Amino acid sequence: METRPILITDHAGTVVKEVWDGKNKRYGYPFANAGIELSYGAGKALRAFQDSGLLIVVAASHSGVARDYYTEEQMHQHHAELNQILENEFGVHVMALGLCPHLPDAGCECRKPGIGMPIQIQQQLREKEIEIDLARSIGVGDKIEDCQMARNFEIRTTILIEGGQWTRNRLPKDSPETVIVGSLIEGAYWFRTGKTCLDLV
Ligand SMILES: [Mg+2]
Ligand SMILES: [Zn+2]
Repeated sequence: METRPILITDHAGTVVKEVWDGKNKRYGYPFANAGIELSYGAGKALRAFQDSGLLIVVAASHSGVARDYYTEEQMHQHHAELNQILENEFGVHVMALGLCPHLPDAGCECRKPGIGMPIQIQQQLREKEIEIDLARSIGVGDKIEDCQMARNFEIRTTILIEGGQWTRNRLPKDSPETVIVGSLIEGAYWFRTGKTCLDLV
């Protein structure tokens, strides 16, 4: 068994863009009707984390399945396509995928900030003879719950992407250990250099 740190990243709003769906008048389900559009710099960001020795794993909430916006099969198809784009265009290998296709109030264990998805990911990695090095792992997402999920799983370093649909009206004072950035690529820059864009002045 090999021990490796992971980057556990959120999906919508972090790796892929959440776009306004005018037809159905809602945010957050970019792939149900349109194709996959990566967030600014996301492919390169994941590659940078991977090059730094972290295994890339994705924890994706899909309440849209329970809401009948798209099927479970479409969800799996989407992630297969996304993984292929990341692999082909950026050389990023998504090593494990946690999924929560339930409604927010379903009481499931995989809803963030619960740790069901990190446990799914841990099991998939163990099948590949990999144990997670929690102390050196990082959690990232555009909601406070993404960071809380990582910390509930004993991952101490978390990165919150602010300014998106979900954080703009919320105080990101969830933890002094959380680094606030504007994008996943800024998070990767911080990881490499210890600086964010705010250190410019
Ligand atoms: Mg998100
Ligand atoms: Zn769930």
